[in-house]
Amino acid sequence: MENDYYKILGVSRDASQEEIQKAYRKLSRQYHPDIAGKQFEDKFKEINEAYSVLSDPAKRQQYDMGASSFSGGGAGSGFSSMDFSNLGDIFGQFFGEGSPFGAPPSSPIPRESRGGDDLVSLTISLKDAVFGAEKQIEVTTFAKCKACDGTGSKSKSAPIVCPSCHGTGLKRQVQRSILGQILTTVPCPQCQGHGTIIPDPCSECQGTGRVRVRRTIEVKIPAGIEDGTRIKIVGQGEAGPLGGPAGDLYVEVHIAPNKEFTRKGQDLHCWLSIPMTWAALGTKTSISTFDGEKELEIPAGTQYGQTVVMPGLGLPKSEKERGDIVVHIQIEIPTGLSGEQKEVLEKFASLHDAGAGANMQAAQEMKPKKNIFARMKDAFKG
Ligand SMILES: [Zn+2]
Ligand SMILES: [Zn+2]
Repeated sequence: MENDYYKILGVSRDASQEEIQKAYRKLSRQYHPDIAGKQFEDKFKEINEAYSVLSDPAKRQQYDMGASSFSGGGAGSGFSSMDFSNLGDIFGQFFGEGSPFGAPPSSPIPRESRGGDDLVSLTISLKDAVFGAEKQIEVTTFAKCKACDGTGSKSKSAPIVCPSCHGTGLKRQVQRSILGQILTTVPCPQCQGHGTIIPDPCSECQGTGRVRVRRTIEVKIPAGIEDGTRIKIVGQGEAGPLGGPAGDLYVEVHIAPNKEFTRKGQDLHCWLSIPMTWAALGTKTSISTFDGEKELEIPAGTQYGQTVVMPGLGLPKSEKERGDIVVHIQIEIPTGLSGEQKEVLEKFASLHDAGAGANMQAAQEMKPKKNIFARMKDAFKG
């Protein structure tokens, strides 16, 4: 398994034990197969595995140093072979010593809780990054069940006190062991520790008060956005169980590569290939930018790799200021000259090259000529 335990719990790599506990508590309730459905069994196991490693400073350090998996034998998470049919045991582990829930609980687990946060990724064009945009994205998430109005009950009535535990959410249990009989308190199996039951669960949501839906959400992309930025949309995450408040939606924005321009900070760089005569004599030409066709003046005597700056056509630096377009010049040497062209060039050579000679320099590297991309990298460094 190459799962990232930090990602699974949604915490940063330098998260404190408290943050890890908090994240785990939330996720384990949210994805408990009894609440979220059997299809989340694997997810639930994954969360437990991540927690069993990250909550143990020694295991966490080992994991940070590159140990990849703690499942199965060895370091033993204790969760990987768990059987969900025996709920008492699971909750026993939850409420046992050293568990994040503390031991034992003094009040029932609330049925209503906040929904989880959603994360989706969105790829935009470089042009959208320059000017900003409004985009629609499709998200699969939990929404409040319409059939029962989020109550989880067919008749939309409030949960009733559990007849088995009388609302405490707890059951006393006698266990035999080699030390004799032990009296333990476990969460009530009838209400899974909630202290209440829904006598007529809604068939649409199986009594959870929420259902899986696909919905379209509008996202505002600010101009000048950096690749990888996460935009938070409050209240657009998963609806909480039994009418609990919704989580938030995070949209991670990626910028697709562009054929003409490479972004460097708030500037845009490109290469422009021009005939050698333009470079020698200078000319006015135009290139197409995100702001439309723009005039570009190439001064006489322009050398290979020289740059021409077009100010204010890059990405926004502030509300009023924009970065530049930097044009890197490549010069084409003509091939396949006609007789007349050759004659003219020879005439030019006789006028220009008198007294000139080739300048020799020691080769810095015994490598073939750098290709255009390598040169571009160099240009960016300088
Ligand atoms: Zn329902
Ligand atoms: Zn009960």
